[in-house]
Order: sequence, then C-alpha cells, then structure tokens
Amino acid sequence: MKLFSTRDNNHKSIYKDAIFQGLTPDGGLYFPESFPDMSDFIKNCHGMSFNSIAEHIVYELIKDETSKDSVKRIVNNAFTFKPEIMRVSEDISILELYTGPTCAFKDYGASFLASSMEEFLGDRKEKAVILAATSGDTGSAVAKAFEGKDNIEVVILYPSGKVSPLQEKQLTTIGGNITALEVKGTFDDCQKMVKEAFGNKDLKSKVNITSANSINIGRLVPQSLYYIYAYSQLKPGSDLMFTVPSGNFGNLTAGLFAKKWGLPVKQFIAATNNNKIVPEFLDSGIYNPRPSVQTPSNAMDVGAPSNFERMMTMFDSNVENFRKVIKGDFVNDEDTIKTMQRYYSERGQILDPHTAVGILATERFQQANSEAKKYNSLVLSTAHPGKFVEVVEDAIKVSPQLPAALSSLLNKEKVSTVIGNEYSELEKFLVTNY
Ligand SMILES: *Cc1c(COP(=O)(O)O)cnc(C)c1O
Repeated sequence: MKLFSTRDNNHKSIYKDAIFQGLTPDGGLYFPESFPDMSDFIKNCHGMSFNSIAEHIVYELIKDETSKDSVKRIVNNAFTFKPEIMRVSEDISILELYTGPTCAFKDYGASFLASSMEEFLGDRKEKAVILAATSGDTGSAVAKAFEGKDNIEVVILYPSGKVSPLQEKQLTTIGGNITALEVKGTFDDCQKMVKEAFGNKDLKSKVNITSANSINIGRLVPQSLYYIYAYSQLKPGSDLMFTVPSGNFGNLTAGLFAKKWGLPVKQFIAATNNNKIVPEFLDSGIYNPRPSVQTPSNAMDVGAPSNFERMMTMFDSNVENFRKVIKGDFVNDEDTIKTMQRYYSERGQILDPHTAVGILATERFQQANSEAKKYNSLVLSTAHPGKFVEVVEDAIKVSPQLPAALSSLLNKEKVSTVIGNEYSELEKFLVTNY
C-alpha cells in the first residue's frame, strides 16, 4: 500500500513503515497513492464472514509488502469480534460496532494496528514502546488491543481523579505489558508530556517510542472493513446510506475509502453534535476550526477534526466534491437526549448518545428526501450505552446493563504508577524502565 503525505506529495511510505510513524515527518497524514478497484469482490461477498472479507481486502491492499499468511495472522489476531446489524425502526438499522473488548468501535482500529505492529516488529526484530495520553475513553481501546503483544510495551498517561471509575479500571487492571501512569495533573498536562517525549531526540535514541493514535493509517484501514461487511449482510444490489456519528472523522474517512474501492454507497451523512465544524463547511464552504464545546456525546467533542486534512486530499480541496457524497447535519444536546427518550419510550431501545445523534440526523434526512427511504439506511453505532451510564441514566432514568467485558473489571484491583505533571518525570520513568 503506497502512501504519501497530505502535506508533501514527495514524501512516500508503505503500510508496514507508516504504521510506526503515525504522522508523516512534515506533520501531515498518510494517504493512499491509489485505490484498487475491488468492486467485483465486493459484489460477490454476500454471506462471507467478517474475517474472510477482511483477509481479502487487506491482502489486496498490502500484497506488495507482505505474504498472505502474514495478512491472515494480522486479521485473525485482531478480530475475535464482529459487527452486528440491528433494525431499530421501519427505515433505520444500526451497525453495532461495540462488540469488541472495550465496547466501542475504536476496538477495530486499535486491535488491527496492534496486530499489524506485532507482525512487522517480528520481521524487524525490534521492540517498541507505545506512548499515549487519554482523557479516559479512548486509551482503553489501545491498552486492551496491545495486551500481551510480543515485543511491545504500552504506557498510558491519564489524569488522576479526572476519569470515571470504570474508565480507570479499564486502564489500570490489564497489567503485563500495559502500564498506567496516573498523572497528578490534567489531561492537557498528559498530552503535553507525551508530545514533548515525541519531540525529544535524546529520549528517542534511548527508547523506541511509537504512537498509536487515531490518525494512524493502521487504524483507518480496518474501519473500512465493516462498511463492506455490512453490505455483505444485506440483500444483494442494495443501495446503501451510512450515517456516521463523527468527531475526528476517522470513521467517515474509512467509509470513503471503502466507496473508492467499489462499495456502492449512495449517500454518507456526517452527523455531529454542537461541534458542527464539518456540517458548517459542507453548508457554507468555509472551514472554521475552533475550541470544542462539551456535549452529552463527548467522544465527538472535537473542534479541529484531525482527518479533515485527509478528506481535503481525497476531494481535491473542493467543497463541491464533498457535497456529491456527504450530507452534513448536527444535533444539539436537547435533541440528542429527546431522541434517546423517544427510542426508549416508544421502542424500549436504549441508545448511547453518539448513536442517538446519528439516528436523528438520519430521520431528518429521510423526511427531507423521499428517495432516501428506498435506501438501506445504516447508522454506525459507535459505543455500547453501558459505556455512557451517566448520560443514559440522566436521559431515560434507567440504568443500561453493563456488558460483561466491563462489569467484570469492577472487582479487579487497580494498579497504577503515580507521577507528577513534569515532562522530566515521564522521561525518567521511560529511561529507567525500558
Ligand atoms: C471516537 C468516537 C466517535 C467519533 O469517531 P471519529 O472517527 O473520531 O469521527 C464517535 N463515537 C464514539 C463512541 C467514539 O468513541
């Protein structure tokens, strides 16, 4: 898979190197040089398993740099879970992406990146230390994905006392090659410390630190797979519409990749909360990133979406090209909560706030475009409602059941290493331990 930088088209890489880079050296994002036409395969993939589809697509993408057996290992080590489709109303189904180890769609990207790194580190005979900061939600997907991986250590920084009890358990009970650093400071402190580490050449000459954040191309590729799998589960010849609850727009960008490979998607809906930077851009042509605002769907509280740059490359920086495939909409806090209440009272359906944003945006689109009711409408359901207990309880006065993968953590003992919020403390910890 040949890749280039969104900032400097002369900087090139391939998949198995780019995953260890994260960002390109000039601060841009890796973008595929070409999109192989896989429409014949996609047309004929009905009824196939998720992993068989994944093996085929991934091999097609990286066959110039690795073997079929290696792709099989990467896929089957990554995916011990698969998406489910569930109808939630007459005209809308959700694609449940929360059946992985931490009950959110980020498990797909993190698991696949982890198994890719494990595979290719074996070739290089190297060890790597994954370094990440988390405000609570996303770090656990990374931590869990890398659990027990050969030649990889993971160090996650989180702000002490500022993550929910369940989130803390998710970070601090894995053990083994996963270390939770409990920082006496804020999430911004954690992020600053990690950033400084990546910018420090002296440290990097001593410890092979690597990032696993969501802009990594190794997290995007696997997210394309479930769009294709969803198609494989529907009636052949279906016209598809996907609604993507979005924050950094990785999920949507992955869907656009799938379309480029030949998936017959009629329409994408980019659904945001009040952080409506992209819907605004689609409407006015003006891109105005700004500080994020807090909402009930807080995993989408992003004011400067990192994948916007990839979408600009894809659409030649022309808003008209975006508009041909993507419709933007945003859902405010009140309507998010009302949608959760309505689905619970009318259908007994408990939605997480992110999925609720997607569902209301879909309903509005269907009301405004009669054609759209003929499409197979799928809303990406990005998290299990049990992950957002407080918001759900507040909205519908009922406690969502915690999935077993999460409830079993509550009895486990927390193990963390407490450090101050100075970069020097992080450096000392890394140099001493790795
Ligand atoms: C990360 C996340 C999103 C946003 O996904 P992007 O790829 O950043 O657009 C939506 N919902 C949940 C639950 C998330 O964790």
